[in-house]
Amino acid sequence: MTARVLDGKAIAEEIQSELAEELVNFIQDSGFVPCLAAVLVGEDAASQVYVRNKRRVCQHVGIDSKLHSLPADTSEDELLELIASLNRDNTVHGILVQLPLPDGISTVRVLDAVHPFKDVDAFHAENVGRISQGRPRFLPCTPHGIQQLLSRSGLPVAGKHAVVVGRSDIVGKPLALMLAQRDSTRGPEAANATVTICHSRTHDLPAVTRTADVLVAAIGKASFITAEMVKPGAVVVDVGINRCEDGLVGDVDFAAVSEVAGAITPVPGGVGPLTVAMLMYNTLKAAKLSI
Ligand code: NDP
Repeated sequence: MTARVLDGKAIAEEIQSELAEELVNFIQDSGFVPCLAAVLVGEDAASQVYVRNKRRVCQHVGIDSKLHSLPADTSEDELLELIASLNRDNTVHGILVQLPLPDGISTVRVLDAVHPFKDVDAFHAENVGRISQGRPRFLPCTPHGIQQLLSRSGLPVAGKHAVVVGRSDIVGKPLALMLAQRDSTRGPEAANATVTICHSRTHDLPAVTRTADVLVAAIGKASFITAEMVKPGAVVVDVGINRCEDGLVGDVDFAAVSEVAGAITPVPGGVGPLTVAMLMYNTLKAAKLSI
Protein backbone atom coordinates (compact mmCIF):
# COMPACT_ATOMS: atom_id res chain seq x y z
CA MET A 1 0.00 0.00 0.00
CA THR A 2 1.16 3.54 -0.66
CA ALA A 3 -0.42 6.01 1.70
CA ARG A 4 -2.32 9.07 0.61
CA VAL A 5 -0.18 12.09 1.51
CA LEU A 6 -2.23 14.76 3.31
CA ASP A 7 -1.31 18.20 1.98
CA GLY A 8 -1.21 20.45 5.05
CA LYS A 9 0.05 23.38 3.04
CA ALA A 10 -2.94 23.34 0.68
CA ILE A 11 -5.43 22.99 3.56
CA ALA A 12 -3.73 25.81 5.47
CA GLU A 13 -4.03 28.02 2.38
CA GLU A 14 -7.74 27.14 2.13
CA ILE A 15 -8.25 28.19 5.78
CA GLN A 16 -6.21 31.37 5.26
CA SER A 17 -8.36 32.33 2.26
CA GLU A 18 -11.52 31.84 4.33
CA LEU A 19 -10.02 33.94 7.12
CA ALA A 20 -8.89 36.69 4.74
CA GLU A 21 -12.48 37.00 3.49
CA GLU A 22 -13.88 37.03 7.03
CA LEU A 23 -11.28 39.64 8.02
CA VAL A 24 -12.36 42.02 5.25
CA ASN A 25 -15.94 41.90 6.60
CA PHE A 26 -14.78 42.15 10.21
CA ILE A 27 -12.62 45.22 9.52
CA GLN A 28 -15.46 46.87 7.59
CA ASP A 29 -17.96 46.24 10.40
CA SER A 30 -15.73 46.93 13.41
CA GLY A 31 -13.57 49.73 12.00
CA PHE A 32 -10.31 48.23 13.27
CA VAL A 33 -7.69 45.72 12.17
CA PRO A 34 -6.94 42.76 14.48
CA CYS A 35 -3.38 42.85 15.83
CA LEU A 36 -1.07 40.10 17.06
CA ALA A 37 1.86 41.02 19.33
CA ALA A 38 4.71 38.51 19.10
CA VAL A 39 7.18 38.38 21.98
CA LEU A 40 10.56 36.84 21.24
CA VAL A 41 13.22 36.55 23.94
CA GLY A 42 16.79 35.66 22.97
CA GLU A 43 18.46 34.61 19.76
CA ASP A 44 17.17 31.06 19.20
CA ALA A 45 17.40 30.59 15.42
CA ALA A 46 14.38 28.28 15.10
CA SER A 47 12.23 30.66 17.19
CA GLN A 48 13.23 33.55 14.95
CA VAL A 49 12.15 31.58 11.88
CA TYR A 50 8.80 30.64 13.50
CA VAL A 51 8.03 34.23 14.49
CA ARG A 52 9.01 35.58 11.07
CA ASN A 53 6.77 33.00 9.42
CA LYS A 54 3.81 33.80 11.69
CA ARG A 55 4.16 37.53 10.96
CA ARG A 56 4.39 36.83 7.23
CA VAL A 57 1.09 34.92 7.34
CA CYS A 58 -0.47 37.73 9.41
CA GLN A 59 0.38 40.13 6.63
CA HIS A 60 -0.91 37.69 4.01
CA VAL A 61 -4.37 37.34 5.59
CA GLY A 62 -4.74 40.99 6.70
CA ILE A 63 -3.81 40.94 10.40
CA ASP A 64 -1.46 43.56 11.89
CA SER A 65 1.52 42.25 13.83
CA LYS A 66 4.02 43.82 16.19
CA LEU A 67 7.30 42.22 17.18
CA HIS A 68 8.77 42.71 20.65
CA SER A 69 12.27 41.31 20.44
CA LEU A 70 14.05 41.19 23.80
CA PRO A 71 17.67 40.24 24.57
CA ALA A 72 18.46 36.80 26.04
CA ASP A 73 19.41 38.34 29.41
CA THR A 74 15.93 39.86 29.90
CA SER A 75 14.71 39.21 33.45
CA GLU A 76 11.41 37.54 34.23
CA ASP A 77 10.14 40.80 35.79
CA GLU A 78 10.96 42.76 32.65
CA LEU A 79 9.13 40.21 30.52
CA LEU A 80 6.11 40.24 32.87
CA GLU A 81 6.07 44.03 32.66
CA LEU A 82 5.93 43.86 28.85
CA ILE A 83 3.09 41.30 29.00
CA ALA A 84 1.17 43.53 31.43
CA SER A 85 1.51 46.50 29.08
CA LEU A 86 0.33 44.39 26.10
CA ASN A 87 -2.64 43.22 28.20
CA ARG A 88 -3.58 46.88 28.79
CA ASP A 89 -3.04 47.92 25.15
CA ASN A 90 -6.44 48.07 23.42
CA THR A 91 -4.82 48.00 19.98
CA VAL A 92 -3.34 44.53 20.70
CA HIS A 93 -5.81 41.62 20.48
CA GLY A 94 -3.58 38.54 20.64
CA ILE A 95 -0.31 37.95 22.48
CA LEU A 96 2.08 35.26 21.36
CA VAL A 97 5.06 34.41 23.56
CA GLN A 98 7.42 32.34 21.44
CA LEU A 99 8.72 29.29 23.31
CA PRO A 100 11.16 28.16 24.56
CA LEU A 101 12.03 31.00 26.92
CA PRO A 102 15.63 31.31 28.17
CA ASP A 103 16.63 29.43 31.33
CA GLY A 104 15.81 31.37 34.46
CA ILE A 105 12.41 32.55 33.23
CA SER A 106 9.37 30.60 34.42
CA THR A 107 7.35 29.63 31.35
CA VAL A 108 4.26 28.89 33.45
CA ARG A 109 4.39 32.26 35.21
CA VAL A 110 4.81 34.11 31.92
CA LEU A 111 2.05 32.22 30.08
CA ASP A 112 -0.32 32.67 33.01
CA ALA A 113 0.35 36.42 32.87
CA VAL A 114 -1.17 36.69 29.39
CA HIS A 115 -4.77 37.92 29.63
CA PRO A 116 -7.05 34.91 28.93
CA PHE A 117 -8.91 36.92 26.25
CA LYS A 118 -5.61 37.62 24.41
CA ASP A 119 -4.23 34.10 24.89
CA VAL A 120 -4.17 33.07 21.22
CA ASP A 121 -1.99 30.03 21.97
CA ALA A 122 -4.57 28.77 24.51
CA PHE A 123 -1.89 28.02 27.10
CA HIS A 124 -3.43 29.96 30.03
CA ALA A 125 -4.76 27.70 32.80
CA GLU A 126 -8.25 29.18 32.43
CA ASN A 127 -8.36 28.41 28.72
CA VAL A 128 -6.98 24.89 29.24
CA GLY A 129 -9.66 24.29 31.87
CA ARG A 130 -12.36 25.44 29.46
CA ILE A 131 -11.08 23.00 26.82
CA SER A 132 -11.25 20.11 29.26
CA GLN A 133 -14.83 21.06 30.10
CA GLY A 134 -15.79 21.12 26.42
CA ARG A 135 -16.50 24.88 26.32
CA PRO A 136 -13.33 26.30 24.78
CA ARG A 137 -12.61 29.99 24.29
CA PHE A 138 -9.46 29.42 22.22
CA LEU A 139 -8.15 26.08 20.98
CA PRO A 140 -4.39 25.42 20.92
CA CYS A 141 -3.11 25.94 17.40
CA THR A 142 -1.38 22.63 16.64
CA PRO A 143 -4.13 20.30 17.99
CA HIS A 144 -6.81 22.43 16.33
CA GLY A 145 -4.83 22.37 13.09
CA ILE A 146 -4.66 18.55 13.24
CA GLN A 147 -8.43 18.36 13.74
CA GLN A 148 -8.96 20.69 10.77
CA LEU A 149 -6.49 18.74 8.62
CA LEU A 150 -8.19 15.40 9.27
CA SER A 151 -11.70 16.75 8.88
CA ARG A 152 -10.99 18.71 5.69
CA SER A 153 -9.26 15.61 4.27
CA GLY A 154 -12.51 13.66 4.77
CA LEU A 155 -11.08 11.55 7.60
CA PRO A 156 -13.54 11.42 10.51
CA VAL A 157 -12.24 10.29 13.89
CA ALA A 158 -15.58 9.62 15.64
CA GLY A 159 -15.68 6.08 17.01
CA LYS A 160 -12.07 5.45 15.92
CA HIS A 161 -9.19 4.56 18.22
CA ALA A 162 -6.81 7.52 18.27
CA VAL A 163 -3.40 6.94 19.85
CA VAL A 164 -1.47 10.11 20.70
CA VAL A 165 2.22 9.55 21.43
CA GLY A 166 3.38 12.50 23.56
CA ARG A 167 1.69 14.23 26.49
CA SER A 168 3.04 17.77 26.31
CA ASP A 169 0.81 20.70 27.30
CA ILE A 170 1.28 22.13 23.80
CA VAL A 171 0.34 19.16 21.62
CA GLY A 172 -0.30 15.71 23.06
CA LYS A 173 -2.47 16.43 26.09
CA PRO A 174 -4.79 19.05 24.57
CA LEU A 175 -5.12 17.07 21.33
CA ALA A 176 -6.16 13.94 23.25
CA LEU A 177 -8.73 16.00 25.17
CA MET A 178 -10.11 17.57 22.01
CA LEU A 179 -10.39 14.28 20.10
CA ALA A 180 -12.30 12.76 23.02
CA GLN A 181 -14.86 15.61 23.27
CA ARG A 182 -18.43 15.29 22.04
CA ASP A 183 -18.06 18.08 19.50
CA SER A 184 -15.52 20.22 17.66
CA THR A 185 -15.27 23.29 15.43
CA ARG A 186 -15.68 20.81 12.55
CA GLY A 187 -18.63 19.01 14.11
CA PRO A 188 -18.97 15.72 16.04
CA GLU A 189 -17.29 13.60 13.34
CA ALA A 190 -13.99 15.38 14.06
CA ALA A 191 -14.29 14.45 17.75
CA ASN A 192 -15.78 11.49 19.65
CA ALA A 193 -12.68 9.31 19.26
CA THR A 194 -11.62 6.69 21.78
CA VAL A 195 -8.27 8.08 22.86
CA THR A 196 -5.11 6.56 24.30
CA ILE A 197 -2.21 8.79 25.40
CA CYS A 198 1.29 7.31 25.34
CA HIS A 199 4.54 8.69 26.76
CA SER A 200 8.06 7.61 27.65
CA ARG A 201 6.81 5.29 30.43
CA THR A 202 4.29 3.47 28.22
CA HIS A 203 4.88 -0.28 28.35
CA ASP A 204 5.33 -1.95 24.93
CA LEU A 205 4.60 1.16 22.88
CA PRO A 206 4.53 -0.68 19.50
CA ALA A 207 1.75 -2.97 20.79
CA VAL A 208 -0.33 0.11 21.64
CA THR A 209 0.40 2.08 18.46
CA ARG A 210 -0.50 -0.95 16.33
CA THR A 211 -4.07 -0.69 17.67
CA ALA A 212 -4.45 2.88 16.38
CA ASP A 213 -6.83 3.80 13.58
CA VAL A 214 -5.41 7.29 13.91
CA LEU A 215 -1.83 7.56 15.16
CA VAL A 216 -0.41 10.94 16.15
CA ALA A 217 3.31 11.27 16.83
CA ALA A 218 4.29 14.33 18.92
CA ILE A 219 7.54 13.10 20.43
CA GLY A 220 10.47 15.14 19.13
CA LYS A 221 12.58 12.15 18.01
CA ALA A 222 13.49 11.83 14.34
CA SER A 223 11.88 8.86 12.52
CA PHE A 224 10.89 7.26 15.83
CA ILE A 225 7.66 5.68 14.53
CA THR A 226 8.60 2.77 12.28
CA ALA A 227 6.46 0.71 9.89
CA GLU A 228 6.22 -2.12 12.44
CA MET A 229 4.45 0.25 14.86
CA VAL A 230 1.62 1.07 12.46
CA LYS A 231 -1.59 -0.82 11.70
CA PRO A 232 -2.14 -1.30 7.94
CA GLY A 233 -4.44 1.43 6.63
CA ALA A 234 -4.06 3.70 9.67
CA VAL A 235 -4.05 7.49 9.42
CA VAL A 236 -0.67 8.75 10.64
CA VAL A 237 -0.18 12.37 11.73
CA ASP A 238 3.42 13.46 12.19
CA VAL A 239 3.77 16.52 14.42
CA GLY A 240 7.53 16.25 14.96
CA ILE A 241 9.99 18.81 13.69
CA ASN A 242 13.56 17.57 14.08
CA ARG A 243 16.51 19.40 12.58
CA CYS A 244 18.88 16.80 11.13
CA GLU A 245 21.76 16.87 8.67
CA ASP A 246 19.30 16.17 5.83
CA GLY A 247 17.06 19.07 6.89
CA LEU A 248 13.71 18.86 8.69
CA VAL A 249 12.58 15.36 9.65
CA GLY A 250 9.39 14.29 11.42
CA ASP A 251 8.85 11.76 14.22
CA VAL A 252 7.69 9.19 11.66
CA ASP A 253 9.86 7.19 9.27
CA PHE A 254 7.96 8.64 6.32
CA ALA A 255 9.22 6.35 3.54
CA ALA A 256 8.66 3.08 5.42
CA VAL A 257 5.39 4.05 7.13
CA SER A 258 3.94 5.29 3.81
CA GLU A 259 4.05 1.65 2.64
CA VAL A 260 1.75 0.58 5.51
CA ALA A 261 -0.47 3.55 6.39
CA GLY A 262 -3.63 4.58 4.57
CA ALA A 263 -2.86 8.30 4.93
CA ILE A 264 0.10 10.24 6.28
CA THR A 265 1.19 13.84 6.81
CA PRO A 266 4.61 14.87 5.47
CA VAL A 267 7.26 16.95 7.25
CA PRO A 268 7.56 19.70 6.20
CA GLY A 269 4.20 20.61 4.64
CA GLY A 270 1.93 18.67 7.01
CA VAL A 271 0.90 19.89 10.45
CA GLY A 272 3.24 22.93 10.58
CA PRO A 273 1.32 25.22 8.16
CA LEU A 274 -1.95 24.37 9.95
CA THR A 275 -0.50 25.55 13.28
CA VAL A 276 0.12 29.01 11.82
CA ALA A 277 -3.31 29.13 10.12
CA MET A 278 -5.04 28.38 13.43
CA LEU A 279 -3.05 31.15 15.12
CA MET A 280 -4.63 33.55 12.62
CA TYR A 281 -8.05 32.03 13.41
CA ASN A 282 -7.47 32.67 17.13
CA THR A 283 -6.28 36.24 16.55
CA LEU A 284 -9.47 37.06 14.67
CA LYS A 285 -11.45 35.43 17.47
CA ALA A 286 -9.56 37.51 20.07
CA ALA A 287 -10.39 40.69 18.13
CA LYS A 288 -14.07 39.67 18.11
CA LEU A 289 -13.91 39.08 21.89
CA SER A 290 -12.51 42.59 22.39
CA ILE A 291 -15.66 44.28 21.10
P1 NDP B 1 7.82 17.62 24.38
O1 NDP B 1 9.27 17.36 24.42
O2 NDP B 1 7.22 18.62 25.30
O3 NDP B 1 7.04 16.24 24.62
C1 NDP B 1 7.47 15.04 24.01
C2 NDP B 1 6.59 13.92 24.47
O4 NDP B 1 7.08 12.72 23.85
C3 NDP B 1 6.63 13.69 25.99
O5 NDP B 1 5.33 13.49 26.49
C4 NDP B 1 7.48 12.44 26.15
O6 NDP B 1 7.11 11.60 27.22
C5 NDP B 1 7.18 11.71 24.84
N1 NDP B 1 8.27 10.79 24.54
C6 NDP B 1 9.59 11.05 24.49
N2 NDP B 1 10.28 9.94 24.23
C7 NDP B 1 9.37 8.93 24.12
C8 NDP B 1 9.46 7.56 23.89
N3 NDP B 1 10.66 6.95 23.71
N4 NDP B 1 8.32 6.84 23.84
C9 NDP B 1 7.13 7.42 24.04
N5 NDP B 1 6.98 8.74 24.26
C10 NDP B 1 8.09 9.49 24.31
O7 NDP B 1 7.50 17.96 22.87
P2 NDP B 1 6.29 18.77 22.15
O8 NDP B 1 5.00 18.09 22.38
O9 NDP B 1 6.41 20.20 22.46
O10 NDP B 1 6.74 18.59 20.63
C11 NDP B 1 6.84 17.32 20.04
C12 NDP B 1 7.38 17.48 18.64
O11 NDP B 1 6.46 18.24 17.87
C13 NDP B 1 8.70 18.25 18.55
O12 NDP B 1 9.46 17.72 17.49
C14 NDP B 1 8.27 19.67 18.22
O13 NDP B 1 9.27 20.38 17.53
C15 NDP B 1 7.09 19.39 17.34
N6 NDP B 1 6.10 20.46 17.28
C16 NDP B 1 5.59 20.75 16.06
C17 NDP B 1 4.63 21.71 15.93
C18 NDP B 1 4.08 21.97 14.58
O14 NDP B 1 3.46 22.99 14.38
N7 NDP B 1 4.24 21.05 13.63
C19 NDP B 1 4.14 22.49 17.07
C20 NDP B 1 4.67 22.04 18.33
C21 NDP B 1 5.64 21.06 18.42
P3 NDP B 1 7.29 12.05 28.78
O15 NDP B 1 6.17 13.00 29.03
O16 NDP B 1 7.17 10.79 29.52
O17 NDP B 1 8.64 12.69 28.87
